[in-house]
Formats: sequence, C-alpha cells, structure tokens
Amino acid sequence: MPEQPSIYSLTLNDLRDYLVSKGHAKFAADQIFQWIYKQGVIDPQLWTNVSKKIKEDLIINFDLSVPTIVWNGLSKDGTRKFLVKMIDQQTVECVAIPAKDRLTLCISSQVGCAIGCTFCHTGTMGLKRHLSPGEIVGQFLAVTLWLKQNVGESERLSNIVYMGQGEPLHNFDNVKKATIIFMEDKGFGLGQRKITLSTSGLAPQIEKLWDFPPINIAISLHAAHNNIRSELMPINKAHDLERLFKAIRSVPLKAYRRITYEYLLIDSLNDRPEDIEALAELLDKEKSKVNLIPFNEYPDSKFKRPSNAKIIWFQEELLKRGFVCTTRTTKGQDILAACGQLKSEYEKLNLWE
Ligand code: SAH
Ligand code: SF4
Repeated sequence: MPEQPSIYSLTLNDLRDYLVSKGHAKFAADQIFQWIYKQGVIDPQLWTNVSKKIKEDLIINFDLSVPTIVWNGLSKDGTRKFLVKMIDQQTVECVAIPAKDRLTLCISSQVGCAIGCTFCHTGTMGLKRHLSPGEIVGQFLAVTLWLKQNVGESERLSNIVYMGQGEPLHNFDNVKKATIIFMEDKGFGLGQRKITLSTSGLAPQIEKLWDFPPINIAISLHAAHNNIRSELMPINKAHDLERLFKAIRSVPLKAYRRITYEYLLIDSLNDRPEDIEALAELLDKEKSKVNLIPFNEYPDSKFKRPSNAKIIWFQEELLKRGFVCTTRTTKGQDILAACGQLKSEYEKLNLWE
C-alpha cells in the first residue's frame, strides 16, 4: 500500500481541515471537490483556480491515483461489468445496471467477505481485507471516468447499491465515510434515496445506523425460518431472526421509509407454501418491500434456481397478502454478473497478468 492516504478518502470537511492545518485557504477544498467529483478532472495540473502551493502539497502528501479498470464487459441487456484493481493488486468488481431513468452502480465494500453465506460465491473466498473509503469512492470515480471516455456524457451513474463483494456493515466506518463523500453537494451530490446499502444482518451494526447517513436499507433475509436461514447464512447462528428484527425495529424508519427485504429463491428450499406463510407473519407490510432474487447459478453451486412458474407464483402469493413485492430480473448473465463470479473466473484464467 502507498505511504500516503488516498485523497478520495477525505470528506469535504476532512479536506478543509487538512488545508487549514497547513495554512492554506479553506475554500480551496470546495474547488478541489468540484474538479474531482463534479468535473471528473483528477489531474491537479488542470485545476486552474487552485494555487500551485496547494497542488504541490496534495501531490506530496496524498495518493491521487484512481483504481484501474482491468477488464470490462457489456451484456446484451446493457449491463456493464468492471473488474477494478486496487494499488495492492487486489481486485473487486462493479456492475453498472441501466434502468429506465437511472444507471445504478453496484459497488464492493470489501475484498472477499467474512460472512460465508453458503449460496454466495464471494462467501467462499473468505475476507481478504476491508476497502478504504477512497477505494470505495474510487470504484465510482473510475467507472464514471471510464464511461465519460468510452461512452460519452449520455451514460452517467445516478444511483449506488452496496451489493458487490463484501458485507458493508462489517466495514462500517469506511462505508459511512464513502457514503458521506458520495452525498456531498459539491461533489457527486447523490441524494439519500439514490443509495442503498444491503446487509446480511449484522444486528449490532444495524443498531448503529442512527449514526449513518439516512440512505435506503436492504436486509438479505432469504428465509423466514431460523433453521433454513442458518443453513444459508452462518450469521444467523450469531444473530437469529428474533435478534435481527429487534435491531431492525431500532432503525429510524421515518427517514428510511420502507426497508427492503431481499429474498433469494432457491428451488425446494425456501420456495414452499409454508415459507410464504412464515414470511407474511414475520414482516410488517406497511414498512416492508420484498425483493425476490431468483438464485443465480454458477459453476459448482450447490443450489438450483426455481422454475419461472414457481417464482411468479411466490410473488403473486405475497402480492395477494398485500405486500409490495418485486422480482429482480437477472442482469448481465452472459457476463457472469452475479456476486463474486467474475473475479473468480478471471483469477482462474489470470487474464490480466
Ligand atoms: N453482503 C451484503 C451485500 C452484498 S451481496 C449482503 O449479503 O446483503 C448482495 C446480494 O446478492 C445479497 O442479497 C446476496 O444474498 C445476493 N447474492 C449472493 N449470491 C447470489 C447468487 N448466487 N444469486 C443471487 N443472489 C445472490
Ligand atoms: Fe458476504 Fe453478502 Fe456474499 Fe453473504 S451474500 S457471503 S454477506 S457478500
């Protein structure tokens, strides 16, 4: 790792404090934020309204490099996948998913993941390390610059989901800082409704969400019975459904509106009538939104995706009971867009070495 911290790890206030501590003008922080995040100009030589002294100081004391995109792929449905290499050669993936009026970037919060869900390809890798705020922001910046250069201004990222590799609440402080940077008006200026954090259910960290910007929260529920959830997600052995929902009740809901519950549909495991009953019992339909995710099979995965008829039936049963419920359409299947898949495939092939 470089000796200097990444400049992209700094919030606007951090940068102001730094400049003041070095006897520079505080307002230059606002100009630098605008250059980097609003204009996408990362070369300090081009920051025409910033003094030479400040630029020299930053170049000496900070790492200004942006993570490198070492591979990208475009799916037939418009989804773009990027493999992003950090300064220590570790790679994470990001996926840009287009929808009618938005372009959402799915970003990673860690290299690998410690939670070890049995259905998840990332979970099989274990945790390599946390990403710094600058590396989380760096993914968004790298893809923004890539799109500008290769596609043009028409494709601009508008939303973020923390649904790539890693458990964002396991890396609470760095994800929090990155989120503050994403939301900074002088920078990318993303609104709180444009950012969604997905968590496997770290109850103690969920209880700390009062100390987090009020973004959308998604809980990876995947089962409404403790025994099935524990089989899928070892975290459920530490924090079972009762503990999880105690934590969820503490989330300041006024700001978050509804909490999204992600429910992975796995053939013959959690797609039965009794699963619908248990789910309807567990969730408060006024405060919840259910997002069904048909299991995305990968080479050697031990679970199967249910039939389309089963998926539609499951959704209709929840709608009938008055739930807001959507089914996630699988995006970018032809480019291995599911969690953790691309990285592993490419590591096997060592394509970029
Ligand atoms: N660690 C966080 C966020 C990253 S995973 C979490 O678990 O919530 C983002 C989503 O992808 C989660 O809901 C996860 O359950 C889901 N996922 C993982 N592997 C999958 C697969 N093979 N098919 C479909 N969804 C998967
Ligand atoms: Fe980690 Fe989420 Fe994968 Fe579970 S589903 S192993 S928490 S990335």
